[in-house]
Amino acid sequence: MRRKKSSVCNAGTEDIHYLCALKIKTVMQTSSRPIIEIKNVSKYFGEKTALDQVNLYVRKGEFLTILGPSGCGKTTLLRLLAGFQTASEGEIYIGGNEVTQTPPYRRPINTVFQKYALFPHLNVYDNIAFGLKLKKMPRADMERKVKAALRMVGMTDYEYRDVDSLSGGQQQRVAIARAIVNEPEVLLLDEPLAALDLKMRKDMQMELKEMHRRLGITFVYVTHDQEEALTLSDTIVVMSEGRIQQIGTPTDIYNEPVNSFVADFIGESNILNGTMVCDRLVRFCGHEFECVDEGFGEEAPVDVVIRPEDLYIFPVSDKAQLKGVVQSCIFKGVHYEMAVAVDDYEFIVQDYHAFEAGMEVGLLVKPDDIHIMKKERLCNTFEAKIADETHVEFLGCTFECLPSAIPASLQSGQEVKVEVDFDKVVLQDNEEDGMLTGEVKFILYKGNHYHLTVLSDWDENVYVDTNDVWDDGDRVGITIPPEAIRVCM
Ligand code: ATP
Repeated sequence: MRRKKSSVCNAGTEDIHYLCALKIKTVMQTSSRPIIEIKNVSKYFGEKTALDQVNLYVRKGEFLTILGPSGCGKTTLLRLLAGFQTASEGEIYIGGNEVTQTPPYRRPINTVFQKYALFPHLNVYDNIAFGLKLKKMPRADMERKVKAALRMVGMTDYEYRDVDSLSGGQQQRVAIARAIVNEPEVLLLDEPLAALDLKMRKDMQMELKEMHRRLGITFVYVTHDQEEALTLSDTIVVMSEGRIQQIGTPTDIYNEPVNSFVADFIGESNILNGTMVCDRLVRFCGHEFECVDEGFGEEAPVDVVIRPEDLYIFPVSDKAQLKGVVQSCIFKGVHYEMAVAVDDYEFIVQDYHAFEAGMEVGLLVKPDDIHIMKKERLCNTFEAKIADETHVEFLGCTFECLPSAIPASLQSGQEVKVEVDFDKVVLQDNEEDGMLTGEVKFILYKGNHYHLTVLSDWDENVYVDTNDVWDDGDRVGITIPPEAIRVCM
């Protein structure tokens, strides 16, 4: 039912010392003013909002990763920082200077791209020296810098090799050497390891972390790979749909996700609808559980997140808070992962011991392993207009509603709000069958149903609860039946 989605850098101490002397500020040497300040930045491409009021500060020497699914705006943010694109609104400061309109070559920044962007007709040395030659740097200085950069990325013996004869990982190292030889204050890295195979990627992750430590310059790294972000970063910025969802250390983000999107995106989670009964008591799955959270009010709808490794599993006994039956048991290398059916719900549980399919088991979770999050919304809410006594316009369509839904006091043309419960929206395989069309953007499994974010072609999200199985990117028809529409002032 559930879908789910080294060779170490060999720079010598001389080079490190040399590069350190040039530029290097270590993570410890953070100054009070952040090196990068992004203030209220938005970016529009026609009607499309790629970035929406982004605020972000990056400390000097930090390894900061921008993490999010495809299309969330990561690359756009990086391009605004590099100066390849200009913000539609807001301001960007680097090193205390406003650079919002400054061209790329005037910014103290270099970028490493996923596709390396090396010059195929130049050898390794000339690729790295390219920018220095443009600056007409004296030959001896240039040679010293190129050699230091080559040693820094562990490519000392490769200076006269054609770049085409290098492996992907070696080419990426040359690209990094070319970027650091300019002694930027900030290095931007746009999915630099995405084109490498898994083993090479893991090796390069270690090398990058080591390079960052030795160089001490600020790294702003873009990836959609959450494991990579957790491994590499001092700080992770999780983005979705052009907005920052959470900023924190890897541990913060993993242990204290602020919403169900972050919880689902970072690692595996059991995410369920729940009700905060009162302070420190939450109800989900038909049972009440002690927790540590306060201040949500009484009988308040919440999202409950429990990591699979925080659920204790044991042969069924009276100690169990929940009793269920194992549906599947998969060995994952270090631990086993079990799907356990508890009434209508399914939990994912990780344990070092295997509990085979068919076994009756008990589950237990400690109060501080239950993470409670405020729900972002309780139903769909749309800006709408009364068309006549039985029709209302929203999402670019005219929808029929029950006559009782529109109070007699409301006139045609009057602006209202319309509410639609998530489980009342109907999705259709055949786009033509829908009143409007859209694309499935995000799927969250909530233990006994899926919660879908569907971006309508009117460019507004429609949220849907369903038991049907859809995939990210599916094109769908969207229908809202008359009885699902509530008109509010
Ligand atoms: P990916 O991981 O797939 O590269 P991303 O998170 O980097 O995705 P962006 O490339 O920043 O996302 O794109 C954000 C949104 O802006 C997307 O919906 C994209 O289609 C849109 N977009 C980006 N560049 C342009 C452009 N030049 N013109 C129109 N739309 C654009």
